[in-house]
Amino acid sequence: MKIMKERTMPHLLRVMQQLNKRQALTNEDRQYMVNLEKGYQGECYFDNVLKEVVKGDVVVLNDLLLSVNRTHTQIDSLIITGSTIYLYEIKNYDGEFVNKSDHLLTKTGHEISNPLIQLSRSTTLFKQHLRNSGPSFPVEAFVVYVHPSFVLHESTLGSKLLMPSQVRSHLAELNRRSSHLKKKHNDLASKLVLAHVEDNPFKQTVTPYTVESVKRGLTCLSCGSFDLILTRRSSFCSTCQYKSLLPDSIDAHIKEFKLLFPDDRVTRHTIVEWCGGKVSDRVVWTVLKTRYNPKGSKRTRYYI
Ligand SMILES: [Zn+2]
Repeated sequence: MKIMKERTMPHLLRVMQQLNKRQALTNEDRQYMVNLEKGYQGECYFDNVLKEVVKGDVVVLNDLLLSVNRTHTQIDSLIITGSTIYLYEIKNYDGEFVNKSDHLLTKTGHEISNPLIQLSRSTTLFKQHLRNSGPSFPVEAFVVYVHPSFVLHESTLGSKLLMPSQVRSHLAELNRRSSHLKKKHNDLASKLVLAHVEDNPFKQTVTPYTVESVKRGLTCLSCGSFDLILTRRSSFCSTCQYKSLLPDSIDAHIKEFKLLFPDDRVTRHTIVEWCGGKVSDRVVWTVLKTRYNPKGSKRTRYYI
C-alpha cells in the first residue's frame, strides 16, 4: 500500500485548539471545534485500520479536494486498486439514528444532513473529473460509519453503507480483489494529487480574535497549562511535569504565533510579548536567528 496523499489535521482545528488554550471560545466555536475533532479522529481511525488490513498493491489519497466544472467536491479517502477506485465518506457519528426514505434523523427526531446524498454528489463529480482527464475506471463509493456505538435503524440502502463492524472485513476484501497496479493507475494517482485544490472554498472561520484579545504567555507543550517553572535552559510544567528545553518551547510558540496570526510579522519584540515577557530578549533572538530566516533591514528585522 502506498499513501500518495497523507491526511493532516485540518488547519482550522489546529487554530481552534491553540485558541482554546488562550481565550474562551464562543459556544458555537467550541461546538464546531468538538465536531472537527471528532470527524478527524474518525478519519484517523479509518486510516489506521486501512494500514493494518490492506497489504496489497493499492494507492491511497486522503482529503482530496477537486474542482470539477467549477464545483468543488471533497473525498475523505480514495483507494485505487487494480480493478476499481473506491471513494469513502467517513462519519464518526455516535448513538442511534433512523433512516426514513433518504432522510437521516437522530433518535429524538431531528433531521441531519444525509451523508449518502453528499456521497452521491461527490461520486457524480468524481466520475465527471475522470471523464475529463483520461481513461475510464470503475468507481464504487461508500459512506463509512466508524464509531463503535453507531446504530442505524430502518436502513434500506445497505449496499453503499458500511457499519462499524463491517469496516475491517470490507477493507480485507480489497486485498483479495486487488491485482497489480498498472502505469495508468499510478498516472491517475499523480494526476489527482496535482488536481487537488489547496484553497478550500468550504472553509469555515472562527470568531475574530487579535493578539490583544487572547491570553499571552508560555504554555506547556504537552498539556497547554500556563503553570510553568522556568529556568535559564528549560521549562517545567507544574500541572503535568512535562519538561522541555527553553529554545524548543520558544520555537513552538513562534510556530503557534505564525499559525494564529499569519498576517503579522514575527519580530523579537512580538515573540517576547507573545511569550508573556517571561523569557529574555536574548534567548528569543537566538532561536529566531538560528531557526528562521531574517528579512528587512536591521531596524525593521523580521523572520520567516
Ligand atoms: Zn503540562
